[in-house]
Amino acid sequence: MTKTTLNNKLKFPIYLDYHSTTPVDPRVFEVMGPFFYEKFGNASSKNHAFGWEAKSAVENARAKIATLINASPNEIYFTSGATEAINLAHFGIAQNYLSKGKHIVTTVIEHSAVLDSLGYLCKKGFDITFLPVDKRGLLNLNEFEETVRDDTVLVSIMTANNEIGVINAIKTIGEICKKKNVLFHTDATQAVGKIPFDVNDLNVDLVSFSSHKIYGPKGIGALYIRDKNPKVRIARQMFGGGHEKGLRPGTLNVPGIVGFGKAAELCLNEMETDFKRVKYLRDKLYKGIVTNLDDVFINGTLKNRLFNNMNLCFQNVNAETLIMNMREIAVSTGSACSSETSMPSHVLKAIGLNKNLLRASIRFGLGRFNNEKEIDYTIDKVIQTVNNLRAKYPSLNLQNN
Ligand SMILES: *Cc1c(COP(=O)(O)O)cnc(C)c1O
Repeated sequence: MTKTTLNNKLKFPIYLDYHSTTPVDPRVFEVMGPFFYEKFGNASSKNHAFGWEAKSAVENARAKIATLINASPNEIYFTSGATEAINLAHFGIAQNYLSKGKHIVTTVIEHSAVLDSLGYLCKKGFDITFLPVDKRGLLNLNEFEETVRDDTVLVSIMTANNEIGVINAIKTIGEICKKKNVLFHTDATQAVGKIPFDVNDLNVDLVSFSSHKIYGPKGIGALYIRDKNPKVRIARQMFGGGHEKGLRPGTLNVPGIVGFGKAAELCLNEMETDFKRVKYLRDKLYKGIVTNLDDVFINGTLKNRLFNNMNLCFQNVNAETLIMNMREIAVSTGSACSSETSMPSHVLKAIGLNKNLLRASIRFGLGRFNNEKEIDYTIDKVIQTVNNLRAKYPSLNLQNN
């Protein structure tokens, strides 16, 4: 464990927004450093030691990232992040399988990277089915199976949701896709590195994930593309060189890749420890708040949920006001992407929250560097602020009826 995790000190502001991004682990930062100055070579330079050194560091990182998801290194393609990986997967498959059909299946609770890229394909004449979810955020698997048709070319369903942390039955979905001979892409950005993820066990063909959600640097991510049983082929979307077998041309981000590799290695080695520590803190935060406040409920359920996620609805409280009154605690009302536009969360809407409850919900995302003092402080602060706001704005009570 690092110094930072052992340090049970209260330092403001308290970061509880690990789903939007994570700090770089100091051990990751340390191995990246030399690749900015001494070892700055271009991984494509074949004629000298600088290039060879960079190339070998990239391949070493690729192997670590592959190990994290039980893939082969040649199935990992570096991108700038999950968003780019998702776009590449969707457009690359859509274009390559046109002769089979134009139908794609997804869900209504996907990240905007999935919803928007499929929305674009929809405008271009593709037929996209957006499956609903129940109150827990889960798909009806029978309904899903019936939706897959002969002309379905791709299923794109996230592994774990970034707002309510719900974990989908990826293995079963993968089995259905395999049986029906349809390719399966999963946005596993919130799951990889946190929960065991094995591409073969789960029967997935394409996986998008990102370094900055697993204590690595921003601006680097990867797309896994299955090479065997079946060999998946995608059409290139960018042109400019042979990097990443032509699928992602452009000089490789060597320091970023090295950091991503180290972050993957740490996640794999410390998955169990992180899980226990963070789940303990999340459960403490949950119990501390719900046992001391009335009219608070969890969005989704505690079952099938990421161990670091908690999304709470504080009835008769405006979430934005609550957050503004707890400035020393960094939490959010939804995903970082939706808070920019201040639109109510499409995920909370999909699980059936009405207009008032949507505006009364807060997401807490915990992570590796949180400690118990921070959680104790947060429990007290939330209780006190919610009580104050409810006393100050009793009229909100009427709105919820
Ligand atoms: C953060 C996130 C993304 C986008 O990842 P970037 O690397 O920032 O592009 C996509 N999907 C999910 C579920 C995410 O949490």
